[in-house]
Amino acid sequence: MKLFTNANLFAYSVCIAITTTLLYGVPTMARTTDSLKAYKKKRDLTKSPEPKATIPSKKTGTIFVIHKHKASHLHYDLRLAFDGVLKSWAVPKGPSLNPSEKRLAMQVEDHPMDYKDFEGVIPEGYGAGTVMVWDRGTYHTIKEKDGKVVPFKKCLEDGTIEIFFDGEKIKGGYALVRMGGADSNKWLLIKMHDEYASARKNPTSTQNKSVKTGRTLAQITNEEKAPRAKSGQQKKKA
Ligand code: MN
Repeated sequence: MKLFTNANLFAYSVCIAITTTLLYGVPTMARTTDSLKAYKKKRDLTKSPEPKATIPSKKTGTIFVIHKHKASHLHYDLRLAFDGVLKSWAVPKGPSLNPSEKRLAMQVEDHPMDYKDFEGVIPEGYGAGTVMVWDRGTYHTIKEKDGKVVPFKKCLEDGTIEIFFDGEKIKGGYALVRMGGADSNKWLLIKMHDEYASARKNPTSTQNKSVKTGRTLAQITNEEKAPRAKSGQQKKKA
């Protein structure tokens, strides 16, 4: 008797495919893991306390986080949850409440969703220094065309994002505008004119504590010891 007829083999393959898809959701995983390639490549995650490059099985809602990061240069990192990862921009001066101030925002590699809660000290290597959860909350896109809200994906592709932040420190409308073509990583972060705009208030200098733990950068640095990188390891700059 022939055990594996063609029909049998076919039915067997279909079963395997269905089971695999049910268990792992294969098509989504392949795509999203790929979006964290640059993140993994830049760091030695066996030595850094930063989150592993994993994708949550369910997409997390539209949270945002602004990290204050004392690396070789102090800067802020704006991260917007989208498509299972955190879209990220390094903002040297941080967000301003003044619509006449355009803040440079360099788009960097997508970060894993778990990074939203990360606060600590990154050891010698990529991004070495202290990281604070400076602000967090939710955001939604407010850009409209023909009376309809433009989906975030389209805004990102077009390089013209308009979002409303509902954070603990930062609230109101902001525009993120890409300078140059689609492959440019240079953007500007600009406060929009609304009731939250202010030419006088400056939260980056007056509100310098973590919204997660209430600690200052100095306190985080003292309390979270950076694991020492092995000597002879190549130094990468942030
Ligand atoms: Mn950074």
